[in-house]
Amino acid sequence: MLIDSHAHLEMPDFKRDLEEVIQRAKESDVIYISTVGTEKRDWKRTLEIAHSHPSIYAILGVHPHNAKEIDEEAYPTLRELCLNGKVKAYGEIGLDFYRNLSPRDVQLKRFREQIGLARELGLPIVVHDRDAHQETLEILRSEKAEECGGIIHCFSGDYEMAKTCLEMGFYISIPGSITFKNAEKFQEIVKSLPLESLLVETDAPFLTPEPFRGKRNEPSYVRYTAQKVAEIKKISFEKVAAVTSDNALRVYRVKDLG
Ligand SMILES: [Zn+2]
Ligand SMILES: [Zn+2]
Repeated sequence: MLIDSHAHLEMPDFKRDLEEVIQRAKESDVIYISTVGTEKRDWKRTLEIAHSHPSIYAILGVHPHNAKEIDEEAYPTLRELCLNGKVKAYGEIGLDFYRNLSPRDVQLKRFREQIGLARELGLPIVVHDRDAHQETLEILRSEKAEECGGIIHCFSGDYEMAKTCLEMGFYISIPGSITFKNAEKFQEIVKSLPLESLLVETDAPFLTPEPFRGKRNEPSYVRYTAQKVAEIKKISFEKVAAVTSDNALRVYRVKDLG
């Protein structure tokens, strides 16, 4: 079995064929998908998708790209929606200093606030960090993020950063970019990290792994990422699938998939 720990099924990219996408994931032994609603207009749809599929869970929050859109209603709304049993984590939250779609000071402020909200809700967080490793670590520390724990998704830091995150009780989630030809550095890091701290994800519709790079990503492709992790660590695909699935169930606190 496999778990896609992070996808965006509510995005318009899946509007036409969502049911087929979910069916293909099942046929590829993906028993569980976490879909992430990153902004206000997505949250309802995210929950709808999670509710209509026993194998799909929801993650809600405000992405750093959308940090500037947070208004007075955002947190009260999230506070209420996150009480829903289908919501297993808070996110994705963090910093994106690569695209800078929200001003950096706004991103920093909203990241801090949302860690506070997740702690209050008792949910693990899903962290997005692009080109902001130092600032991300500083905020995780100062906001006591180890109290809620969670996942650094699409990890792109170095080995030292990974170690620090593991010490704080976080899991590291590996995206499809691990399969890219120029990913040697990242592959070395993954090689040194314990499998017990790793998850695999698609971040679909983005970051499509080889051999489908350039096309739309979908949860069934998470197997190519798991295969690559197995190859790098010189262990079996089955072992990677089993342990990363176990890890995902643990961090999302899902006991039985039924
Ligand atoms: Zn992200
Ligand atoms: Zn994402």
